[in-house]
Amino acid sequence: MDINSLSDKELCEIINTDKYDCELIAEADAVRRRYYGTAVYLRGLIEICNVCKNDCLYCGIRRSNGNLDRYRLSKEDILSCCEQGHKLGFRTFVLQGGEDPYYTDEVICGIVSEIKERFPDCAVTLSLGEKGRESYAAFRAAGADRYLLRHETADDAHYSRLHPAVMSLAHRKSCLFTLKELGYQVGSGFMVGSPYQTADNLVEDLRFLQELRPDMIGIGPFIPHKDTPFRDFPGGTLELTLRMVAILRLMFPTALIPSTTALGTIHPLGRELGLKAGANVVMPNLSPVRVRKLYELYDNKICTGEEAAECKGCLERRVQSAGYEIVSARGDVYGFDSKPQ
Ligand code: SAM
Repeated sequence: MDINSLSDKELCEIINTDKYDCELIAEADAVRRRYYGTAVYLRGLIEICNVCKNDCLYCGIRRSNGNLDRYRLSKEDILSCCEQGHKLGFRTFVLQGGEDPYYTDEVICGIVSEIKERFPDCAVTLSLGEKGRESYAAFRAAGADRYLLRHETADDAHYSRLHPAVMSLAHRKSCLFTLKELGYQVGSGFMVGSPYQTADNLVEDLRFLQELRPDMIGIGPFIPHKDTPFRDFPGGTLELTLRMVAILRLMFPTALIPSTTALGTIHPLGRELGLKAGANVVMPNLSPVRVRKLYELYDNKICTGEEAAECKGCLERRVQSAGYEIVSARGDVYGFDSKPQ
């Protein structure tokens, strides 16, 4: 199937049926093998805080959730997660968190530059939400290599049903283009099956990604959280998420696509199936076990109890059982010149 020649209407039809799933998944696997073989890249995820000034209606760490103990990791905490991760073979650290004014540009730059100094063979990915150009530029100058910022949905009306009025799709998009201009490897993405989402919205997501041309694309099913206004909405399905992973692999043959924790949360073999549908990244949790449960973006999130080494071992076995192999490398996007910049 030549996915790139399909009209919006044809794409919509494919999204709405399970008729092509086997074909899509087999083709997606062939394409990932053409560019990446059986390699699966590791990202050590460090959830640096669950404090957030935003109030996204789907998110468990939204500002209005009063049923949550809030935490912040110190620079020393974060460095010791990296230390442990480095010993385990991780060569990318992802610092993710809510939008928390406590972490000023100076604090983030201090953390990033120290990680790069102590672990010069590693890439640093930030996922800290929407910031101004100066902040992104300062993080980049401090050594940050990559930035993850899902656009969440590329439809204005849908965006405004998922977010409070003070947030806008236009601003989120402009952040993504700024990050690209600053030379980051950029990741975007969306939730599958978020409340009010239609197949047309998913086509808009694909079209936006074609315009952005990101290096990484993260998608996962929406999963309701009990302390959010979306508690009673159904979650996204395994089938539709896998179909979207396969479509993304065919549209973006060289993209780095994670098989997400959310996929593993809705099905015991979700991450293995994600890899078979074209994903080529896994993100074991490196956060200190004492805070894991507090970074609950959605109900029943998995991997909140194990130490980093167990988490990595478990994922390694899962990756192998799916027919792929974890490689200990920075895992830059295909064609990226990884010489120090
Ligand atoms: N604050 C940063 C940002 O906005 O990009 C990073 C943290 S944010 C919690 C990370 C991602 O979690 C979001 O991009 C969103 O797609 C995902 N997420 C939040 N709530 C979710 C839910 N209920 N189900 C599935 N994914 C969710």
